[in-house]
Amino acid sequence: MNALEYVPVPAFEDNYIWVVSDGRHAVVVDPGEAAPVRAYLAKRGWRLSAILLTHHHQDHVGGVADLLNGQGVPVYGPAGEAIEHVTQRLKNGDRVNIAEPALEFSVLDVPGHTSGHIAYFQAADLAGTPHVFCGDTLFACGCGRLFEGTPAQMLASLDSLAALPGATQVHCAHEYTLSNIRFALACEPDNPELQAWRDKASDLRAGNQPTLPTTIAHERAVNPFLRAGDPAVQAALQEALHEKVSDRLAAFTLMREWKNRFR
Ligand code: ZN
Ligand code: FE
Repeated sequence: MNALEYVPVPAFEDNYIWVVSDGRHAVVVDPGEAAPVRAYLAKRGWRLSAILLTHHHQDHVGGVADLLNGQGVPVYGPAGEAIEHVTQRLKNGDRVNIAEPALEFSVLDVPGHTSGHIAYFQAADLAGTPHVFCGDTLFACGCGRLFEGTPAQMLASLDSLAALPGATQVHCAHEYTLSNIRFALACEPDNPELQAWRDKASDLRAGNQPTLPTTIAHERAVNPFLRAGDPAVQAALQEALHEKVSDRLAAFTLMREWKNRFR
């Protein structure tokens, strides 16, 4: 059996539409637009076998109808959101089994960015590496905005992603890494792994390369939204915002609000 390929197809300004293929068939995650995916599949000679959706935002679902073009391929999506063309509605703990490419996912509910947002966790590829497709919940060095959920929900969702194996490859849906790193450095200026990541990510972007996938272990080390319990992070928040940080949820809430207005 062929090793699987995980390809970020760029779309819009800064979206990635992830395509997973065994060299013949392909699963497409969050196709916000159809044209770049169709062009990529045609270039590689890959045939669409399923679509996975993480949440209802247009930049993640807008290309579904066009991509399907009448084909009867399954479309997986969150049970808690009304999305057109979804054929399989999923909730926490559900399993997804796809024959070609051979893929098995377990579903995690990760509300916060939207209230029904889900993530797809693959426990092992043929090499034993785990993968997660987390939409707009966890980003490299950041997290999604809270459009529909509460800070407590988002923190719990990020905790469930952070609890995945450290080697898990994290396939995020946007290239926000450099601006996220700038904010992360404001929260944690003395984190050496974060400083090293800033240099590496800057080089990647200067060469027009994606900074993704990241890994869960790396995000635990550099992502301030996974580090809201860290005393150094809490001290930096107190100093920058002149607000008392009483606990981890308060730190996370302040951090998310600060990021919304951070330039
Ligand atoms: Zn979104
Ligand atoms: Fe998005």
